[in-house]
Amino acid sequence: MGIVMLSDNYRQADDIIRDADIAMYRAKSLGKARYQVFDEAMRERAILQMTLERDLRLAVERNELQLRFQPIVLAKNRELIGFEALVRWLHPKHGLIQPGEFISIAEESDLIIDIDLWVLEAACKQFQIWKTKHLISPGLQLSINFSSRQFNQVNLLNRIDEILAKTGMSPRQLQFEITESTLLNQSEQVRNIINGLKERGIQLHIDDFGTGYSSLQYLQNFPVDALKIDRSFVDNLLKNHESIELVRTIILMARNLGMKVVAEGVENEAQLERLRNLQCGYLQGYLFAKPMTVEDTETFMEQALMWQIGA
Ligand code: C2E
Ligand code: CA
Ligand code: CA
Repeated sequence: MGIVMLSDNYRQADDIIRDADIAMYRAKSLGKARYQVFDEAMRERAILQMTLERDLRLAVERNELQLRFQPIVLAKNRELIGFEALVRWLHPKHGLIQPGEFISIAEESDLIIDIDLWVLEAACKQFQIWKTKHLISPGLQLSINFSSRQFNQVNLLNRIDEILAKTGMSPRQLQFEITESTLLNQSEQVRNIINGLKERGIQLHIDDFGTGYSSLQYLQNFPVDALKIDRSFVDNLLKNHESIELVRTIILMARNLGMKVVAEGVENEAQLERLRNLQCGYLQGYLFAKPMTVEDTETFMEQALMWQIGA
């Protein structure tokens, strides 16, 4: 709910409604079931958001998006098994912008569709370059974040096929990270797309698992390959007993359903040790590497290769 305090500054009903709207969107962006009272700072923020949205529309065409790669490793020996591609925006005026600042804006419109597909294409291209440089093995996985909005597109599978054909990427190396909310949509179209992805050999991973919805029914209805345990659980692993039990239960459930588990946001050895003890299969986090530029990723892979040869 957005609230406006009436003052003499208002002449028109439209202005009051506009500001109430701004306050309401602010409340929404802060979470569910809350209200915000409008203030001037909110209007400035809203204007900044609007200009960002306008700029973002041009960002793809103007080649302002960039990729970062963050490794995903095997828990038992830290062996590199893949990368998650994460987007950044090099804004001509504001500099490097993190996804936290623009993905939600992009998700309010179909802009996110082009961004995600740009990431898919650019990351697949990069993988092929790394293949020719012999930096990656055929089994190395590439994770791409896919907004639930993608699934509204009737021609999504065609667009993916085009990108696969253009880049020569093997779909078996690809995994799409989607959120629980995507699979709560029981429409025929979502089901067809999911089946189409699976037919191509693309894996489905549930991102931020445990933060979304309490219904687990979708795990029964869709062919999910892996659960990514949200960072907040990993963060609390050493702080409270409940988190340990929650993570233990998620891992057990995943194993019984034949799914893999990736823990996100692993920052220290103590968390690593605990996750190993809980039999978590895969890990991702600053402990191994932050999201890296293409150049740093290459150095990382060279070191991983040397380490393998040495070991
Ligand atoms: P995510 O998919 O959950 O990605 C993981 C985020 O956690 C990344 O933030 C990563 O930098 C951060 N992270 C990884 N390890 C650690 C750690 O050990 N500690 C801490 N504190 N953070 C860690 P980033 O890159 O800022 O991305 C934020 C979110 O933006 C992503 O969360 C994802 O939801 C979204 N995003 C990023 N790229 C894309 C994209 O291409 N498409 C879509 N739809 N969303 C994207
Ligand atoms: Ca993700
Ligand atoms: Ca996540």
